[in-house]
Amino acid sequence: MTEETWGRVCNELEKTVGKNNYLTWIAPLRVITVDEGIAAFEVPTKFMRDWVQRNFAESILRELRKAGITVERIDLKVAHARPAANIAAPRSVPPQSNVRRAAVQEDVDLPGAPLDARFTFDRFVVGKPNELAHAAARRVAEGGPVTFNPLFLYGGVGLGKTHLMHAIAHELQQGRPDLRVLYLSAEQFMYRFVQALRERQIMDFKEMFRSVDVLMVDDVQFIAGKDSTQEEFFHTFNALVDQGKQIVISADRAPGEIKELEDRIKSRLQCGLVVDLHPTDYELRLGILQTKTESYRLQYPGLVLADGVLEFLAHRISTNVRVLEGALTRLFAFASLVGREITLDLAQECLTDILRASDRKVTIEEIQRKVAEHYNVRLSDMIGPKRVRTIARPRQVAMYLSKQLTTRSLPDIGRRFGGRDHTTIMHGIRKIEELKGDDRQLSEDIDLLRRLLEN
Ligand code: ADP
Ligand code: MG
Repeated sequence: MTEETWGRVCNELEKTVGKNNYLTWIAPLRVITVDEGIAAFEVPTKFMRDWVQRNFAESILRELRKAGITVERIDLKVAHARPAANIAAPRSVPPQSNVRRAAVQEDVDLPGAPLDARFTFDRFVVGKPNELAHAAARRVAEGGPVTFNPLFLYGGVGLGKTHLMHAIAHELQQGRPDLRVLYLSAEQFMYRFVQALRERQIMDFKEMFRSVDVLMVDDVQFIAGKDSTQEEFFHTFNALVDQGKQIVISADRAPGEIKELEDRIKSRLQCGLVVDLHPTDYELRLGILQTKTESYRLQYPGLVLADGVLEFLAHRISTNVRVLEGALTRLFAFASLVGREITLDLAQECLTDILRASDRKVTIEEIQRKVAEHYNVRLSDMIGPKRVRTIARPRQVAMYLSKQLTTRSLPDIGRRFGGRDHTTIMHGIRKIEELKGDDRQLSEDIDLLRRLLEN
């Protein structure tokens, strides 16, 4: 079976089992072979194997057959010691991009992409890392006079960009039904553009896009390097800004950091308000878990949640909210299946793969290497004695990140920075903490490096 076929089957499965189930249970499956009527898949854990077997085997079989594959049964094998990163971001692995594309093709008659009903402001938990982005989104959602254009939201995977954009759209639909709001991904923008070209309907395309009051384009980094799409996007963008229409854009990084995006587009994107969603912190993660737990309590009445489980998850699971949600979904499903209380033991048992993936330790060497690369200094200067600012500052950034991203002690960090004393390390860390507040460039550098290192 080709990846493309499996992609199509996945697409159908997503429709039949629902998006949540799909992301939690089906997306992590890996096709191994289809042979003599047996479709073999790899699953990350024993628990997932049993769950998928029990709940989704029939649906999978049915969809495989519909796709023209002769198959009697499915065979699920537990993968050994495979990094579980795919679970963290099922959408970012290659086969899934086929799935996405297929889904887009069916949507062509709709004015924009469908909105997820759950992505509302009500359900968005606000914390320090996202408060600015949230406030800006709220402002746009009021539908008043345009004060900043565009609103550019950026941040790593699963930090709530799409959620906020949908929330704006929902809010505007409620409060300002007179406005034409169009939300779509940059990928869909490109697809429609290419289709318009092919069908010689480019005038209709232009007209349609220029007639909206609020345009929201998600994941704009997608059009980087796609020249004619960029060009068209630029014209659409300018036309709308000239008419005083609101534009909201999201991307996985700041405008200036999107490679292969034309400079004039970058500078246009920077004209409005650029806000980033920072990686989640412990408090925000805990808040999100508590909120989600409330709704699970309704769905699974009678389940007991032991003290400390949510705190444990907030500590141990990566910054990506999608992973966090997936973990909780699985935990509740598992507990209700086996009729047990949700305890730390149970969490560890049923989330081994996710916990393992989140466990990936960043090393001080990696930090030094990435920082040196970023600032264009030699790796040897990171540990060497030079004290000129152009070298000392990056070195301090590396010290700061070592403290933040590893569990090493100060003396330990000192040893790895050419045998420096722990007070030197402390001084370096303090210096960066102090500068970061006022120096926007520095704080952006640090966020970027942190993201690179944590992925
Ligand atoms: P992004 O578009 O930045 O990759 P999403 O907006 O798709 O991320 O968010 C991933 C998942 O995490 C969604 O299910 C979303 O509802 C949830 N999520 C992200 N941030 C929050 C938050 N602050 N409060 C509640 N849910 C959140
Ligand atoms: Mg998104």
